[in-house]
Amino acid sequence: MRKVWVITLFPEYFKPLIDFGVTSKGLNGDLGVTLELINLKIFSLNSYGSVDDSPVGGGPGMVMRADCLRNALLQGVVNGGGYGEAYKDHLHVVLTGPRGRRVDNKISKEFAEKFLSSSKNCGDKDVVFICGRYEGVDERFVDLYVDEEISIGDFVLSGGEIAVMALLDSALRFVPSVLGNSSSVLCDSFEDGLLDHPQYTKPRVFEDIEVPEILYSGHHANIEKYKREERLRVTKLYRKDLLEL
Ligand code: SAH
Repeated sequence: MRKVWVITLFPEYFKPLIDFGVTSKGLNGDLGVTLELINLKIFSLNSYGSVDDSPVGGGPGMVMRADCLRNALLQGVVNGGGYGEAYKDHLHVVLTGPRGRRVDNKISKEFAEKFLSSSKNCGDKDVVFICGRYEGVDERFVDLYVDEEISIGDFVLSGGEIAVMALLDSALRFVPSVLGNSSSVLCDSFEDGLLDHPQYTKPRVFEDIEVPEILYSGHHANIEKYKREERLRVTKLYRKDLLEL
């Protein structure tokens, strides 16, 4: 069974991911992948359950302590998951944060192939996400235990949980059998460098606007040609930069 580990102060955040929609299908173990949540509070070194302290040298906010994070990783994940002393060969530790590698469709797909494919081959690693909070994480933890940093965009979240959920949600769409119709992912935006074409459903006329005639023609090749042209038009209109890559 593949495991996706998440070290977080707020495991409850992940409940909707487990309870609803395609992500619940992908993470409940049926497809060979489970989500393992480690509550960082349990690894607090004081009676208040806190895992942060004030920044050395002054400055606003609080910083997550390296010792609490290390204990969560070593005791919660390494011991809990039985990875043993050579755990670095079996785990890939990912920290969320604004300075990380920017997640896009390619990274999400790569992530799905590396960490979500149910058949675990020799040499495959399980992934561990660290959800930062406050001003972030003590740099020494990053130096010693983090393999990669990822960001979901040039903006600042209050915690890494939403970033992890966004990546997991998009990556799970690439896992065969998570989506009802696996061909739909191939037609989605970004798959071939273009955005999706406009979509229509019933009724045929809505407030005087008709669904384009050609979509009713039943002529498969013409419809495909039309959709391709529409994808180009929409990409030019909304995201010209994608065509310039
Ligand atoms: N002081 C930090 C921001 C900390 S925000 C800075 O200015 O860079 C608190 C936590 O939220 C981070 O540790 C990280 O885990 C998460 N986070 C914030 N923005 C993020 C982003 N764009 N992508 C992924 N995680 C993010």
